[in-house]
Amino acid sequence: MKEDILHNLTIINNRIKNACEQSGRNTDEVKLLLATKTVSAERIKVALEHGQTLIAENKVQELKEKYDDLKDIPHDNHFIGHLQTNKIKDILRYDVTCVQSLDRLELAEKLHQRLLAENKTMNVLIQVNTSNEESKFGIDPSEAVELTRKVSGFSTLKIKGLMTIGLFSAETEKVRACFKMLKNLQQEIIHEHIPNVEMKELSMGMSGDLETAIEEGATIVRVGTAVFGARIYPDSYYWNECKTNKKA
Ligand SMILES: *Cc1c(COP(=O)(O)O)cnc(C)c1O
Repeated sequence: MKEDILHNLTIINNRIKNACEQSGRNTDEVKLLLATKTVSAERIKVALEHGQTLIAENKVQELKEKYDDLKDIPHDNHFIGHLQTNKIKDILRYDVTCVQSLDRLELAEKLHQRLLAENKTMNVLIQVNTSNEESKFGIDPSEAVELTRKVSGFSTLKIKGLMTIGLFSAETEKVRACFKMLKNLQQEIIHEHIPNVEMKELSMGMSGDLETAIEEGATIVRVGTAVFGARIYPDSYYWNECKTNKKA
């Protein structure tokens, strides 16, 4: 198990390095985030004990279950799933340092209220639905600038950039269009010079499309399967939580 994970990490790091070289970027411009949904704390630990520092969960329940086992190993914990407002207090309790899936004003408001009460701040990325798929969360691209502007008004929320899940397609150019769109939105927002907004991070690219994302400017790639192996649940179980899968 350990050997597999370490071997896969070597492969992924090489893929990142090669993609950076291809596009004339420095390898240190791209961070590897491990998407750890369904992965046991024991397996995550292997990665954290061998140089990895950034992990992320999709569900608060999993964050909670693994917290005690991982808390003594230094690392950063991001949140990349659909966040229900009644789970905000858990996000704070379990030391999440960045919510990458901020996709609506109501969530920003509630998060801000809670952060104010606890005298804390939180890094956030605005999640954009660049693939125009009904099943995916994320703000519509046409509303992304406006949402960013509104969120910037909340003093506890530190906007660091944008996040997207690209289209699932074997046609690289269609996937690339999603990443280009995110990059364009980033540039548009930068040109607006909105106070309290940093737009350095572009979180895009996963196991299957990280090269394309890096070519288009990704600063964070989120990788699960290619490091930890296939998951038993389909991704829709994680992504369609409220939209189409009521029982979750
Ligand atoms: C699961 C997940 C990933 C990683 O997907 P893989 O294809 O397993 O690399 C990236 N981003 C989000 C939001 C995820 O839920």
